[in-house]
This record gives sequence, structure tokens and C-alpha cells, in this order.
Amino acid sequence: KYSKMKRDEQIFDLIEAEKQRQLEGIELIASENFVSEQVMEAAGSVLTNKYAEGYPGKRYYGGCEVVDEVETIAIERAKELFGAAYANVQPHSGSQANTAVFAACLKPGDKILGFDLSHGGHLTHGSPVNFSGKLYNPVFYGVDKETGLLNYDKIAEVAKKEQPKLIIAGASAYSRDINFEKFREIADSVGAILFADISHPAGLIAKGVLSDPIPHCHIVSTTTHKTLRGPRGGLILMGKDFENPFGLKLKNGNLRMMSSLLDSAVFPGNQGGPLEHIIAAKAIAFGEALSEDFLHYIVQVKKNAAAMAKAFVDRGYNIISNGTDNHMMLIDLRNKDISGKEGEEALGKANITVNKNMVPFDDKSPFVTSGIRIGTAAVTSRGLVEEDMEAVVNLIDEVLMNREDNTKIEAAKNHVYRLMAHRPLFKA
Ligand code: PLP
Repeated sequence: KYSKMKRDEQIFDLIEAEKQRQLEGIELIASENFVSEQVMEAAGSVLTNKYAEGYPGKRYYGGCEVVDEVETIAIERAKELFGAAYANVQPHSGSQANTAVFAACLKPGDKILGFDLSHGGHLTHGSPVNFSGKLYNPVFYGVDKETGLLNYDKIAEVAKKEQPKLIIAGASAYSRDINFEKFREIADSVGAILFADISHPAGLIAKGVLSDPIPHCHIVSTTTHKTLRGPRGGLILMGKDFENPFGLKLKNGNLRMMSSLLDSAVFPGNQGGPLEHIIAAKAIAFGEALSEDFLHYIVQVKKNAAAMAKAFVDRGYNIISNGTDNHMMLIDLRNKDISGKEGEEALGKANITVNKNMVPFDDKSPFVTSGIRIGTAAVTSRGLVEEDMEAVVNLIDEVLMNREDNTKIEAAKNHVYRLMAHRPLFKA
């Protein structure tokens, strides 16, 4: 049945079904995007066959001449794109990038200060169900109840009281720009390492439409598959603190460069062989992101998010912080008497994909939640512009307000089909 020569129709049928699902729906999950054909081609290339433990020029396997070139190009393009002095392109995911950063900087039990998961932080920023909360000692900052914004004075107070070894700036569900300069002042005031996780807004940061963490943070990590529009994966960067970030005294009293600490935390510390096919796809995505076209794309992502937030506010929806500076927004549905779970399920029936999300000071469980998170990176890749955002918000409102009415849901689904099905997944 599983003959190696026979095309596996069972799986390819499912891939085709998923392609149709992506083509026919409105994809609003803030962490998703659609990659270009050349990124896809590289991700499915013969480079998947190659083992290459180590780094370019220092591998533990023969036959690495070609992948060495690929990985070097990926590193150089990542540095150019972010204005960084150091890049490691090997982390298999954002979580593995963060694991390596912590391993390079911390010992088990060290205190870390991160953004509360229920206020918009990520699992890897100290959640008790994640390695970061089990291995290290997490404390948290959050947003102000009244404004939904980070309050830097309060973060400074928490830092002073808790004296963390490392502070994480960055989030999965925060729609505002982050003041990394302020975070560095706070970190310096308590002698902490400042680590920015820019997984979500990386594409906007790369194109200069949001504050740049590189001049202020000791270490920066990101995923490559969200607003950066590359293959699924992780990336670690460093700026000017590259050579001697915090005067770490290491083995035998030698002062080692932070770069070699990070490199060895990725491999052999946390991973084996790098995914060279994905690294090739990352290199292509970084090349695309360096282009003028990508600037247009990113500007459109931001315009679409602003247009969408306005349309929601006009319809009485409660957007945390009342708007957005980036590609996403978090909507508190409590004034509409819907849970995040109900909202996600109802929209799913009309082929509008969002995710339920905790909102700050949520009174519901993470399985139910009071909110939904919405992002515009994916729909912008499919060619939607500001005027379409009004129509999309109308559809969302129609579905949420009539979620028991199957006729209306079916009509919304047909509308979604007409809006999306003729568009390629990736519009160049
Ligand atoms: N960091 C942040 C801020 C994220 O939002 C995410 C993913 O959602 C990650 C890290 C983890 O990325 P991955 O899913 O690739 O492990």
C-alpha cells in the first residue's frame, strides 16, 4: 500500500484540499502569510537531502560546499536587511531561536522578565507550560488596563523590584510600536540583558516603518514566516553589542564573543543538522524583503490594518489600545457578548480564519477567551487593499451578529468565495 514508487495520493489529496482552503478563504491569522513561488520551490528542493551540522566552513560532514554558499548568502542578506552585525539563520523555529538565546545568556533558575502571555506575550517568554517558565524563573509586565498600552514607568518598577537577568521586549498580540530605547534604559538600570523578540512585526521593522530594536537590544530574535513572508523558521540577530555585550566572563576566564556563544547554543546546544532547504528559502525571502516591492507590500499591510481597525471601531468593536501601529489588532468581544471561541468558530464557517485570543485582564480561560486576534499580512499578500478591508469587516460583523443564522453564514461564505477564489495565493 505504501509503495515507495507510487505517488501518495492520500497525502497529495490533502495538500490539494488545504490549497483550496487557503485559496477560498480570508486568512486573518496574524502570524500567517503566503510565500512566493520561489520561496516555496527552495523549501521543497533537493537541499532537504543534505546534512550539514556545523557552520559554513566548519562542518561535521563532507559535501557541504554548495550549502555553505547558500547559508553564507542567507546570513549576509539577513544582516543587510536588519542592519545587524551578526545573524544565525539555523533555528528551526521562533521557539528554538528563543531557546538558544536563553541558553546562551542564562543558567537554569535565572530570573527573566517578559510580557504576560494573557496581555500579548508569547509562550516562550516565561509561560509556566513552556520550557521558558519551567527552566527559568519568570516574572511579568503587562499593559495598563485603561489604555491597553505598555507603561514603561511600571516596567521599570517591576524590573527594579525583581532584578531580572534578562528582559524580553516583544509580543504575539500587541498592536503598538515598542520603544526599545526605553527598554534599554530599563535593562541598563538593573544590569539586565535586553532581548527583543520581533517575530510578529519583523517585516515592518526591516522596512523601517516601526522602531528598530537593533541599535538598542543586545540580542534580537524573529520568526521568518510572519510579516517577513519567508518559510517557517527562526533567526537570531545582534547589532552593536555583538563583540562584548555585557562583559560576560566565561570558561577559564576567557571573554568569548557573544556570537560564538549564540552559535553554539543553536548548534550543538539545541539542534542538530540545519534545514538547508529552509535556509535557502530564507535567503530568497530576505532577498525579496530587501526589494522596493516589499516596502510597498509592508506599507500596504500597515494601511490595511489601520483601515480595518477603523472599520471595527466604527462598528462599536473594542480594539485593545483603540487602534494599531503594525499589522495586527486584538479585539475584546465582551461588549458584543461573544467569546473568542464562539467568534472563531462562527467565522470559520464562513471561511474567515482568525484565532481566539486572551485579552488583557481576561476573565475567561485560554480555551474560551474574550477576544480574537486579526492580522493583515496574509490578505495583503493576496492583493487586498484598504477598500477591501471595509468589506471584510462588514462580513465579519455580519457573521458574528448572526452566528446562529445558517442562511446568513452561507451568504457570507459565498461572498468570501467571490472575493478571494480568483486571486492567486501570492500576488507578486
Ligand atoms: N515569538 C513570538 C513573539 C511569536 O509570536 C511566535 C509565534 O507565534 C514565536 C516566538 C514562536 O515561533 P514558532 O511558532 O516558529 O516556534
